[in-house]
Amino acid sequence: MYNKNPSRYPQPGGGAAPDQQNYQHADAYGQQQQYNNAQYGANTYNAAQTAQYQQYQQNDQNNQQYQTTQNDQYNYQNNEVKATNNYGSQPQTAKNSLEEFNSDKSLLRMTTDRVPNTNTLQKEIALPLGVIVKPYGDLPTVNIYNKLYYYQGEETPSVSFGQKPIVRCKDCRAYVNPFIRFIENGMKWICNICGDINPTDNYYYSPLNSVGLRQDYEDRVELRQGSVDFVASNEYMNRPPMPPTYVFVLDVSKPAIDTGYLQLATSTIKSVVENKLLPGGERTRIGFITYDSSVHFYNLRSTLKQPQMFVTTDTEQIFIPQPEDLVVNLSDSYDLVINLLDNLPQYFVKTQVIDNCFVSALQAANLITNSIGGKLIFFQLAQTIIKHPMLAPKTLPNTAERIDLVNSTNPYFANTGTELGHLHMSCDLFIFTHGKNQYKNLQTFADLARKSSGNLFYYQDFNSRTFGLKFSNELYHSLVRRTAWEGVFRIRTSAGFNQIRSFGNIQIKQKTADLILCPSIDSDRVYVYEIEKNDLHTEDPNRLARRDCSHIYLQTALLYSTSEGERRIRVHNTAVPLTNMKHLPFEFIDVNATTHYFARAALNILQTNLNFTVCRGMIEMNLTNLCRSMLKSQQSIKQSLPDNIQYLVLYVLGLLKSQFMTPTKQIVPGDALDYLNYLRFAINSMSPEETLPLFNPQIINIADYNLDDQNFPQLENLDRASILPSNIYLCYNGLALYFFVGTDCDPFFIQTIFKANDIAHIDRLISEEEIFAGYETTPYLNSLYNIVTSFRYQRQPYVELRVLINGDAESESILRSMLVVDNQNSGYPMDFTKFLATITGGGGLHGPGAAVGGAPAAYY
Ligand SMILES: [Zn+2]
Repeated sequence: MYNKNPSRYPQPGGGAAPDQQNYQHADAYGQQQQYNNAQYGANTYNAAQTAQYQQYQQNDQNNQQYQTTQNDQYNYQNNEVKATNNYGSQPQTAKNSLEEFNSDKSLLRMTTDRVPNTNTLQKEIALPLGVIVKPYGDLPTVNIYNKLYYYQGEETPSVSFGQKPIVRCKDCRAYVNPFIRFIENGMKWICNICGDINPTDNYYYSPLNSVGLRQDYEDRVELRQGSVDFVASNEYMNRPPMPPTYVFVLDVSKPAIDTGYLQLATSTIKSVVENKLLPGGERTRIGFITYDSSVHFYNLRSTLKQPQMFVTTDTEQIFIPQPEDLVVNLSDSYDLVINLLDNLPQYFVKTQVIDNCFVSALQAANLITNSIGGKLIFFQLAQTIIKHPMLAPKTLPNTAERIDLVNSTNPYFANTGTELGHLHMSCDLFIFTHGKNQYKNLQTFADLARKSSGNLFYYQDFNSRTFGLKFSNELYHSLVRRTAWEGVFRIRTSAGFNQIRSFGNIQIKQKTADLILCPSIDSDRVYVYEIEKNDLHTEDPNRLARRDCSHIYLQTALLYSTSEGERRIRVHNTAVPLTNMKHLPFEFIDVNATTHYFARAALNILQTNLNFTVCRGMIEMNLTNLCRSMLKSQQSIKQSLPDNIQYLVLYVLGLLKSQFMTPTKQIVPGDALDYLNYLRFAINSMSPEETLPLFNPQIINIADYNLDDQNFPQLENLDRASILPSNIYLCYNGLALYFFVGTDCDPFFIQTIFKANDIAHIDRLISEEEIFAGYETTPYLNSLYNIVTSFRYQRQPYVELRVLINGDAESESILRSMLVVDNQNSGYPMDFTKFLATITGGGGLHGPGAAVGGAPAAYY
């Protein structure tokens, strides 16, 4: 029986979900996955990732081959720095190199592992210095022998100083970390960020041993690991840590009820509650509001026999009856909550109300939650909301480049999101449409989530048959993942570097310059910073002499409340060597991170009201400068781009061709525009590895009678000529999996997959349950199922499965958006070969990218 239970994710707290055996997810960075899922019958190793992994190894080897000589050069070039350093530049270390202390790269990394040591050099080589950080990410377990990364929700180690202050630099306030250096037999320590000398407090004192290490070194995890949690004392809180609080605000108008979403939402929430998967355990609080043309509250006081509903018809002046009974402790009111979730869909099954007072429901949710804070989770479908003056689309001339459609039309939701964020509330939005081309003005709506550190989920023309599984899984994942509360986040860089910009769905806390407000932050959220070397930075010469000037040090700090009720600071640290050599930053470039930086920077440019032409021009110019300076930096006469830079060029070409970079000239307000704005929001929270398939999709031919999930089909070239009408393809772009069905493909495949006699009779809304019904007993379907699962596990949460038909205009358009190598993309008709030649000025046409029609498909 095909399983549609969405509980396929690791639980918060570390265990595996009930139906999930030994789930091991690839780290984004390692690009390798392995998971054994007893229920799904899925595999051990999957070939999709094997292909990627091989490429990863290749990339890695490309880097490794420089390693020896680079290290030599590196040591040599830094001798002059070290010579002036009376204290020596390296902290005492029990490891071979400083970088072994670094946080895992999935949590904190830069766009290159060799950073220019002057601003002049940085400008000259034109490599952007991006910092990618996942403040509350799960700690992967690293198997160093074969570089597999497993997501098993391992706990970040914690450090407590009891009621004593956390050890920090008295000047720059950096937290104690593996890169500080103890001197004078441990009596003092030198800060790696600012070079200040700090006295060691009595409670932290330990004498040094014969090699200069603290005698208690092995007991001090904060001196041995890059990522730790410091348990905070009372000085870090204005009030006791808030309980995790979830308020569900559900659309119950007739259009919403008709789609069946409410049944799915309540059953998913119920399964999370019943399995005790909501973060917080006994502390968790919960509340429900429903709304159509009026707002309904639910009294869940534990002494009641069943929930009581109150209806407020005056939506202008919301009156809250018994506010203390509307958001209740989940454990105390467990039976009432289950009762409500069981019966809620029935309450409205016969409703005829089509109106929708979302703004009043938002105000109501604010009123019942703002004394404590928490997560507001909105579900909105009814189309009448668009008549609200705050969401009405602007009437705009159709001639300009329509950059205005990338921006909000009304500040109300941004202002409300900001206000909620400062009250420790965040908003998750599940926005649905039903029917063709229903415009939601999603960009304006999304400000609510954007400004309050929330998430956005969007379901175009929703029906529960086709999209139910996607919705249930996304809701499930958003509820059970690790979540931190009432937080603020910042990053520190060692002296001589400046933060220039930060990219993401970010709200800076009022009255601060750089504190990012995180009323709640989940384990998937990624921020990107841009930094630069500041040659004009003046520094006390004594400090300069004390500081290790051969590295840049980064330290991030998330001050937050755990779901279990502790105040903590999660700190990630990393050290990256500085260099005065022009070629090293390129040789140590992190291609995935740099591509992601370009994507975030592009979104940032669009949001500042520049148009698409300017935005694309800036990316082209930046990439051109980078590639040409790279070529210039090569000391040999070999004038070709190395493989890793060619991958970067290919990925950036994919970025320029991707849907979210499409000018909205042709797009009038409609669901296509909403989808693009949804995409822009999503990319602004995602990790480099999550966005990479968008810029370099994976396509395989599955029209093979002997389809074998253990021997994965080869990835196709990403050009239209490679896509043949005799085949069926599975296309993955990180957000969705598409079947692309060729007009001349063997009916066997159409019958087996789509249960139709021929291509004309394929039901494009067929659900996954229907496709894979009884898959275990059909070898072809079994293999296909495992392949789909392999793709799917490259990313959380769930990616949907959709059907495209050869010859259909919309299908063709979606397919071409994924073919990044040829010149068939209407938004950016440029093939890889020509693009590479343009970018390099004709000098880059060697190596793997020089094949006719562009580069091979598997670049990961
Ligand atoms: Zn300091």
